[in-house]
Amino acid sequence: MRESEEIMIPFNKATISGKEEEYIQQVISSGDTSSGGIFTDKCLDYLKFHYGFKNPYLTTSCTSALEMAALLIDIRPGDEVILPSFTFVSTANAFKLRGAQLIFVDSKKSHPNIDENLVEELITIRTKAIVVVHYAGVACEMEKLDAICKRHNLFLIEDAAQAIDGHYKNKSLGTLSDISTFSFHATKNINCGEGGCINIQNPSLFTKAETIAQMGTNRLAFLSKKVDYYQWVSLGYSIMPSEINAAMLFAQLENLETIQRKRVELWNAYYSRLNRLSIPIEVPIIPDNSSNNAHIFYILLESEEVRSELISFLHTEKIQAQFHYRSLHKSEYFKNYHDERLLNNSDRFSNCLLRLPLFNDLKLDDIRRVVHSVERFFSRNGN
Ligand SMILES: *Cc1c(COP(=O)(O)O)cnc(C)c1O
Repeated sequence: MRESEEIMIPFNKATISGKEEEYIQQVISSGDTSSGGIFTDKCLDYLKFHYGFKNPYLTTSCTSALEMAALLIDIRPGDEVILPSFTFVSTANAFKLRGAQLIFVDSKKSHPNIDENLVEELITIRTKAIVVVHYAGVACEMEKLDAICKRHNLFLIEDAAQAIDGHYKNKSLGTLSDISTFSFHATKNINCGEGGCINIQNPSLFTKAETIAQMGTNRLAFLSKKVDYYQWVSLGYSIMPSEINAAMLFAQLENLETIQRKRVELWNAYYSRLNRLSIPIEVPIIPDNSSNNAHIFYILLESEEVRSELISFLHTEKIQAQFHYRSLHKSEYFKNYHDERLLNNSDRFSNCLLRLPLFNDLKLDDIRRVVHSVERFFSRNGN
């Protein structure tokens, strides 16, 4: 086949596992389409049983889960929240929306995750929480971070949007903090269109979480006949997704093992093929304490210019590759609030990281094609 006739390899295709339509049809036929029905329960049971989540709620997105987390720990104007600069904007927005002052931390040199060694020196009497992001589903150094939070009496929050089925020393990500949040957006390992989860591990927050999830009412006390009517008792949110979303999500959770096996196989194929080429790129490093849930496959280029050229080259080869994130401390919105600290590793990942196509339907042949194109790019450039 000539190059120009080759089919485009997209960057992402949402995972479909088979039973989604059947389950969604069941919900529609039942008439119980709003939140908190049979499929929601099935999803929550799965998460509790397989990962040991203590108190999970499905949410309409990871963004809404993060916003609920900020309300749950009662973030107020003047509170400081420490978080990585190299992350999706929702990690920051959720806390800024409640008036927090954001203190951005650099990534590790070897990985986009927060550098746990830089955190403690940033703590002040106003610090209320540390939010970590398990980038690409790779675990942050949770034991160190947990010890810091305990020492200073801070909340620890995991933005585990990318981390479903991820582990740190054989413990499930999402269970190593006070609150964790997950995403089931179409770009994640499993999805229900838009969706997410908040898991509360700290029992002292359970009752408050229940009230917030009931839009700030004591409706659950009413349903269990503890009160005669329910009323507004605190601030709350509408966070729960419909049963239609939950049905789609359950179809994927049921098949999560198969989905994950395939994804890891694809990731390993990229890794072994790229790792043996002598071209000037870096392949991802998975630290000893972390599993690999194969959420993202990225490479690091020498510079932003090389990255742009490679993206254009791949485009002419009908391959879509994408980069993210721009360091938040340098963003249009935030740059004037940031202190003087340089966050060089975050900037390097912003400029040099490139994500290659990775989704469940991708074929090993596609990976061969992508790797071959990357190799050809460097040989054409005379590197
Ligand atoms: C995807 C993502 C989010 C947002 O998830 P939504 O479900 O789209 O709201 C938040 N944080 C990180 C790190 C993400 O990757």
